[in-house]
Amino acid sequence: MKKIQMVDLKGQYNDIKNVVNPSIQEVIENTSFINGPKVHEFQKNLEEYLGVKHVIPCANGTDALQIAMMGLGLKPGDEVITADFTFAATVEVIALLQLTPVLVDVNEDDFNINIEAIKRAITPKTKAIVPVHLFGQCANMESIMEIAKEHNLFVIEDNAQAIGASYTFKNGSKSKAGTIGHVASTSFFPSKNLGCYGDGGAIFTNNDDLAHTIRGIVNHGMYERYHHDVVGVNSRLDSIQAAVLDAKLPHLDTYNKSRQGAAKKYNKAFEGVENVMTPKVSNGCLEVCDTCDCHVFHQYTLRIKDVDRDALVKHLNTHNIPCGVYYPIPLHNQKAYKGDRYNEDDFKVTNQLVKEVISLPMHTELDDEQIEYITSTIIKFING
Ligand SMILES: *Cc1c(COP(=O)(O)O)cnc(C)c1O
Repeated sequence: MKKIQMVDLKGQYNDIKNVVNPSIQEVIENTSFINGPKVHEFQKNLEEYLGVKHVIPCANGTDALQIAMMGLGLKPGDEVITADFTFAATVEVIALLQLTPVLVDVNEDDFNINIEAIKRAITPKTKAIVPVHLFGQCANMESIMEIAKEHNLFVIEDNAQAIGASYTFKNGSKSKAGTIGHVASTSFFPSKNLGCYGDGGAIFTNNDDLAHTIRGIVNHGMYERYHHDVVGVNSRLDSIQAAVLDAKLPHLDTYNKSRQGAAKKYNKAFEGVENVMTPKVSNGCLEVCDTCDCHVFHQYTLRIKDVDRDALVKHLNTHNIPCGVYYPIPLHNQKAYKGDRYNEDDFKVTNQLVKEVISLPMHTELDDEQIEYITSTIIKFING
């Protein structure tokens, strides 16, 4: 059996190196390292893939979130509602811009931001909601957009984990993750579903004025050379990363399909196993099927009930099975983001999830033998 890895970037590279290598070489030969033609090609191709008017590439997914918030003109003291159960980048940029993060609880079934909790958190100071499409499937965007409309709020989709996923509305129409809110951010960190070979990110929007504002912000607030109209940042996707991404984009749907295939096999193996809850698909066709793109499994995350999760993690590691706990501490309990205003009773789900979740190896190169070994090792441990 091949060595099991949490992500297998080498295996994926070997399959596309005949395209990626010359593409990187071309950038080097042209010495068009910054803002070269590759960046524009990739931007256009991604706009077309997503069906969104504007993609603005930038340096990483954290910058993308920050720049989106700057573009919307959010001001210190504005309240921004986001999920308690996510990677810290989301709350970090809110705090960094001196906005007030308002963390709320998530759903038990799909781990995404809870609609009732959003409603309870709205105050006259609320200016935006940041749903995070966690682990590869969209938050309940239909309800979030309704709430936003009613209260005149911006919606910023953190789409670092769900690129290529689609959201299905009640009327049956579909939109790609990251094209539904007023603006969205994504990350091209190497282990993301569409990852480059370094850092990278992008902002998406259908709003022409906002796109214009953001294009200036990523480039020192310049709209005309050496005229600085607003305070900006320096955040660029470099051409070598764009070359990698442009070579990988045509494979994204295939990559996501193979993740879904692995998820399906995991689900099957855990069928009927007590104490193991497999991840739920909450939108569209409600299960992992061969045709849908409702869930693109950035992570395959189980909930382990009434079993010592941390002992299971150790057991897997001693059996050469890497795994992850995303995320072990709720954001409202992180030193940097703690606050008197939070009440433990408001985070029942997150507080429970942090004790139960375990993410299994998930990538495009997982084979049946590996999945069988991983699942049987877990089942044997649970059945004692
Ligand atoms: C990865 C990630 C980010 C940050 O992306 P970087 O490119 O690493 O800055 C933000 N939000 C979520 C949910 C992520 O998973």
